[in-house]
Amino acid sequence: MPELPEVENVARTLRPRLVGTRVLGVEASGLPLRRPVDLARLRAACKNARVTSVRRVGKYLLLELSSEKVVLAHLGMSGRLVFAASSEPRRPHTHALFALEGGLDLRYVDPRRFGVLRVYDLAQLEASPELSVLGVDPLEDGFSADYLHEALAGTRRELKGFLLDQGCIAGLGNIYACEAMFLAGVAPRRRTNRLSRNRAVDLHRAIRSVLETGIANRGTSFSDYVDADGEAGSNQDALWVYGREGEPCRTCKSLIKRVVQGARSTFYCPRCQR
Ligand SMILES: [Zn+2]
Repeated sequence: MPELPEVENVARTLRPRLVGTRVLGVEASGLPLRRPVDLARLRAACKNARVTSVRRVGKYLLLELSSEKVVLAHLGMSGRLVFAASSEPRRPHTHALFALEGGLDLRYVDPRRFGVLRVYDLAQLEASPELSVLGVDPLEDGFSADYLHEALAGTRRELKGFLLDQGCIAGLGNIYACEAMFLAGVAPRRRTNRLSRNRAVDLHRAIRSVLETGIANRGTSFSDYVDADGEAGSNQDALWVYGREGEPCRTCKSLIKRVVQGARSTFYCPRCQR
């Protein structure tokens, strides 16, 4: 599932060819994503509008248009936003297609259809059901060690569940949550309100670090993820614990363990994480 670093790389690879470019038309498969796609609304917002900016908030992509509308996209489990020449045959599971001037398409491909593609008025965007419930983006200035410590102290959940909650921190998913807990040396079942200020500082630093490394490595590609140019990332080769059950810890050589928390696998080192 694409997380913050993957979505950031999609945004970065979209910008050079998308910003300033006019959308000529929109097509859709008619199949619903997480919710139905409102093709008429997409067309009205996009047709003959220019893309004025591409932003990321948490795991959401925001394509702002000269029509004062915004296309909000979430890649769900398996979504891709990729450029393709308009002459190229459509891959299976292409659920939306933005025809751009210059013979290029931006295509939304999503086999599992858990993604989101919606249109908002620019002025209404922050109040949208998607964005209004998000916590702070961990790469923004508002994500400080103090913010994290207060949020941790204010609840007594297992740390893993807290990190995945987009209402606290927007952008972490299973991979980067596991990696951050390892780097901070904190066990995934620790209760958040039991973490000291020093551990919160460690965790804050670790979250930033794993995300920045993920971005620098152009994302983690186990199966579906590619950027808008169709390129896979290499961060899967740099992971400390995620997906490494039974393999030796890169620090202490203990075997990496896996537990299931909230129906998702958590990978951790029983010796390095306390
Ligand atoms: Zn270890």
